[in-house]
Amino acid sequence: MATDLLLRNIRPLGGEATDILIEKGRIARLGTGLAAPAGVVVEDGRNEILLPGLVEAHTHLDKSLWGLPWYKNEVGPRLLDKIDNERLNKRRLGIDPYQQSARQSIQSSLMGSTHIRSHIDIDTDHGMWGVEGVMKMRDYYRDIIDVEIVAFPQSGMLRRPGTLELMDEAMKLGAEVVGGLDPCTIDRDPKGHLDAVFALCQRYGKPLDIHLHEPGEVGAFSMDMIIERTRALGMKGKVTISHAFCLGTPDPALIDPLIAQLAELDIAIMTTAPASRPAPPVKRLIEAGIRVCSGSDGIRDTWGPYGNADMLERAMFVGLRNNFRRDDELRIALDVCTIEGAKVMELDGYGLSQGCRADLVLVPGETLAEAIVTRSPKRRVVKGGKIVARDGVSIKSAP
Ligand SMILES: [Zn+2]
Repeated sequence: MATDLLLRNIRPLGGEATDILIEKGRIARLGTGLAAPAGVVVEDGRNEILLPGLVEAHTHLDKSLWGLPWYKNEVGPRLLDKIDNERLNKRRLGIDPYQQSARQSIQSSLMGSTHIRSHIDIDTDHGMWGVEGVMKMRDYYRDIIDVEIVAFPQSGMLRRPGTLELMDEAMKLGAEVVGGLDPCTIDRDPKGHLDAVFALCQRYGKPLDIHLHEPGEVGAFSMDMIIERTRALGMKGKVTISHAFCLGTPDPALIDPLIAQLAELDIAIMTTAPASRPAPPVKRLIEAGIRVCSGSDGIRDTWGPYGNADMLERAMFVGLRNNFRRDDELRIALDVCTIEGAKVMELDGYGLSQGCRADLVLVPGETLAEAIVTRSPKRRVVKGGKIVARDGVSIKSAP
């Protein structure tokens, strides 16, 4: 049931203090000294900063080890080592997609995220196990967080016969986005891989979000083929390229033409702002009018031990990776983790204006930049007009 809530003495985006009245899960009124209608829950905002809910636009809910015993990582250095190691050990390690996605989703909610886009593994060893587990999870936890599912051929698609048929099955089951991955270096068949994933997009009328780790010239080649298909199939505004390390190549002759075409075709870029890889230049992309979102990627999985699902921390990483120091630059980093992510996920009614959905987070801080660098754990999270997390405690418990 939708809840009515009056938030008193809050500062939207660090601005002037005001009140916000939430009715039927949406922002009904903003203004100082609003009268509390009978029966409404009143919450003292304590002059804290109000943000729209943080947007985790790229993660892997089905494979987190959150809450499981520490995994001693002795995996080889290649991408394929990590892919094969995970697929072969998933069941043995007890990585149940329902349980693990619930644990990570609750953690995300505690940190202030209200929306998640998650890639879910599709492979011939596990079939629909991941997609079905995460779909069941999101139904049960839908009052604290919204989850969008990307069908993701993590182990490759054409190199493992049967995977493409499973991708089709996942789309039939209701995955919202078609995934893909490194068409040159994993499937070693860029035309075959890209034609297949774009065909799924066309068949189901869904967008594409493709992992592209390929660096330098190879990555630029794959990106060019993605651009070519986006244009030919009229998929302007419906494609996201995740990681896009090739855009971090310091070679204007290579990346300038790509950036111009990404802008022209409204192709979005997702970056985790990685510390140890070339990374897309966030400010330059935003200034070119390109939608840029961010995400945690894998959190505490067999790929790597890091991550806490905090998109405010991710905003700091975006700032650090891009040498953002000025307050207006940190605002860009925060936008990437909020409004830009919402644009990439095409979220309806996202924001702090009248009529927007009441998916919000309250954080202590003097300014937005200070909130990012201090990252207080004392957060209050509102989803659909209801307070769903307070100071690290969720209204839902994890399995
Ligand atoms: Zn990923």
